[in-house]
Amino acid sequence: MRYIEAKAGNVTIGHGHHIVVQTMCNTHTSDIEATVSQCRRMYEAGAEMIRLTVPGMKEVEALRAVRDRLRAEDIDIPLVADVHFSSDIAIAAAEIVDKVRINPGNFHRDHEQAKAQFSRLVDVCRRCGAAIRIGLNHGSLGDRITNLYGNTPDAMKEAAMEWLNMCVDNDFYNVVVSLKASNTIVMVEAYRLLDEAMRQKGIVFPVHLGVTEAGNGDAGRMKSAVGISALLSEGIGDTVRVSLTEDPVNEISVARHIADRYDGRKHSSMVSLSLEGRKASAEYHSPTREVLVTDFACDFGKRLLDREIDEVELRGVYIDGDKAVTLDGSDEAAYLCDELMQAARRRFYRPEYIACPGCGRTMYNLESTFNEVKRRTAHLKGMVIAVMGCIVNGPGEMADADWGYVGEGGNKVTIYKGKSPVLRHVPENEAIDRLLELIEGRAAVSGE
Ligand code: SF4
Repeated sequence: MRYIEAKAGNVTIGHGHHIVVQTMCNTHTSDIEATVSQCRRMYEAGAEMIRLTVPGMKEVEALRAVRDRLRAEDIDIPLVADVHFSSDIAIAAAEIVDKVRINPGNFHRDHEQAKAQFSRLVDVCRRCGAAIRIGLNHGSLGDRITNLYGNTPDAMKEAAMEWLNMCVDNDFYNVVVSLKASNTIVMVEAYRLLDEAMRQKGIVFPVHLGVTEAGNGDAGRMKSAVGISALLSEGIGDTVRVSLTEDPVNEISVARHIADRYDGRKHSSMVSLSLEGRKASAEYHSPTREVLVTDFACDFGKRLLDREIDEVELRGVYIDGDKAVTLDGSDEAAYLCDELMQAARRRFYRPEYIACPGCGRTMYNLESTFNEVKRRTAHLKGMVIAVMGCIVNGPGEMADADWGYVGEGGNKVTIYKGKSPVLRHVPENEAIDRLLELIEGRAAVSGE
């Protein structure tokens, strides 16, 4: 078996190396002051790699300025360019950053042309020493792959293997691969299939793990911890990103805790566990609420996903400031059990939300809008509602949402029903009302 290591700047990712914690800026990359300041905060919080969105050539130039400013401050953290639609932009960015993330689903629709574009990118990365992430997402696999395999974990694996084979054909191995989904079952299944396929082929590339569009708060942390920990516990995964619709600096403590657990540097704060039939009862003594939430999801996510157990009970204490909060029999313990069951997709007690973390393409205040959408739709149990930052990638990444709220730019929003836009150019200050009217049938959906 050949195990590949990828190098991005001063960080090595892959077999035998520690799990690398990374995050992504949500500033406009061309706002150099804001981007440098956010990178600095991420670095100080312990991020080991930072991704920046690069929608156009203007942002390629901004990347250079951000890199130079950070290096002048002795912040030598590897920078990653996130490029979706243009191989020319990816090629230009590769001259500047340590790694380029591409989304194969957004490369040329003609596969032969996509291969030619990719070979050009590989040549530049080889010359400049930049790594490539083959970053596939459920929901944006591209028509060719979904026509062949459906929109399934198997399709994600097939697409990834096709692009990894292109790397091998180009004799280029400075590569990391990811297969993200917001549905934890799909995400775990896709990565397991990929791991199996790489082993069958005899060459294992480093794997970047993440649950995409996980949302925020407890739900976002739990969804991420369920998916990422299930795979890390099986030895799958070399670098992680916890995507939250919050200040991205908040992602780092969660990702670091998960990485440290599976690198053997930390233990769970669970102090006792009993199993009665298919019900687990666990007691925690946790130093913070976030550690409790993360450990609980790590300890039981895989068992719930794999249907080894059907129910969980949470007891114990966590520390909040200078007081100890007791969980035994509390509403908070019951709520956290409900959240975990939903994160593992075993029981849906409220609507399911898909919300992107936001990036330099975000067109509005995503965090506050998402919280308001959650507040106004909390009664719609079982419905899947997406809140996405941009019209460029948002619709493709909403996966199986029933309804979508997607920023257009210019203070306007498009509302989607499933994959179809049903109301365009809605002023932002009316958009949640319009969404509710459509969902509740008080307004007609165009075309119906
Ligand atoms: S959907 Fe969200 S995270 Fe993805 S590119 Fe658009 S704004 Fe950025």
